[in-house]
Amino acid sequence: MNTVEPTNVLENALQQLNDAAALLDLEPAIHAKLSKPKRALIVSVPTRMDDGHFEVFWGYRVQHNMDRGPCKGGIRYHPSVTLDEVTALAMWMTWKCAVVNIPYGGAKGGVICDPAQMSEGEIERMTRRFVAELVEIIGPDQDIPAPDVNTNERTMGWLMDTYSMQVGHSVPAVVTGKPIAIGGSLGRSQATGRGVALVAREALATHGMAVEGARMVVQGFGKVGGAFAELIEGLGAAVIGVSDVSGGIYNAAGLDIGELTRHVIETGYVEGFPAGEPITNEELLALECDVLVPAALENVFTADNAGAVRARMIVEGANGPTTPEADRIFADRGIFVAPDILANAGGVTVSYFEWCQGLQAYFWTEDEVNERLEEIMVRAFGEVYAESQSRGVDMRAAATAVAVGRVAEAVRVRGIYP
Ligand code: GLU
Repeated sequence: MNTVEPTNVLENALQQLNDAAALLDLEPAIHAKLSKPKRALIVSVPTRMDDGHFEVFWGYRVQHNMDRGPCKGGIRYHPSVTLDEVTALAMWMTWKCAVVNIPYGGAKGGVICDPAQMSEGEIERMTRRFVAELVEIIGPDQDIPAPDVNTNERTMGWLMDTYSMQVGHSVPAVVTGKPIAIGGSLGRSQATGRGVALVAREALATHGMAVEGARMVVQGFGKVGGAFAELIEGLGAAVIGVSDVSGGIYNAAGLDIGELTRHVIETGYVEGFPAGEPITNEELLALECDVLVPAALENVFTADNAGAVRARMIVEGANGPTTPEADRIFADRGIFVAPDILANAGGVTVSYFEWCQGLQAYFWTEDEVNERLEEIMVRAFGEVYAESQSRGVDMRAAATAVAVGRVAEAVRVRGIYP
């Protein structure tokens, strides 16, 4: 699986698996099985554009593992999507579901496109054709998609409708992160950010610190970073820096997240927010703070900039923001990292709740959703922290070991067919 562009996220993911395999003394057959995805589908997605001409996009769905249950994972729309990237993200979904101990394997999907340059009608037609191409391999018992970068409730509504039209009846449980009107879960839209906030709270507590008064910096102000900033501000933290693709803003006394959100809704970007100083993304990542939350894309922290980070801890809202070299630098410098597969698992956890509610056709209150999410996140953090202490390894190695251990046990008790 060669990439078209120089991304190494799959190498990073495999490196993490190899480290966990060594730590667990994993059987070679299981290690080899988990190194490769179970199934990868490549499709072309012909789409009629508004001016009448057709664009043919590449779409991918990679199902990494189904040993603990159906596959689960989002679909992203981005110009930099590659098969290797989607494969790495699918593997991370397997570990993520295992870390929080929900009965799923991992998958991921992506379409190479630039939704910022497309109309809503174009995105809808592309989505519907992509889903039509996936119909054989997705479904409530085998693979349940969800939102990811540049996809949202609306995209998931089209997905649910297209799948349902193809099979001839309504199947709400084929997708999560869908609108409430068709079986979405209360609390799902903020769930990833809420989980990141809970993990930040737990991580601070291991350092004898409280959220109240802690200084937060957030890279990315979308579904994850935006919700995190709002919730953590509500818990009494000061969000001193925020950035998005337009650049960053800084206010040592704490940004007003409600005002910033209104500004972003009006203008589209954090740029130009009056109650803060403009800073670059690089400056933002080097701000002195208690918790730094990357909540955008992969490979944000590398060997080149990890030495400049002045955060006490990093809590990963994004998937794959830290390369293995950067991880080593953070470990040497004593910077605590709560890894993606633990820290951002709140989204898939509430996706699991949404799927359960859909299959039972019985819906929970928002308080019930949030309480159960908290219970799962706190338990998972505690288990990973205990593993990290007992093995004397960093939190990523501990989380991956916990996850790989659970998946390996499923493979062991099932056996490898035939
Ligand atoms: N895309 C999200 C993630 O990376 C959510 C996946 C899901 O809910 O299935 O965790």
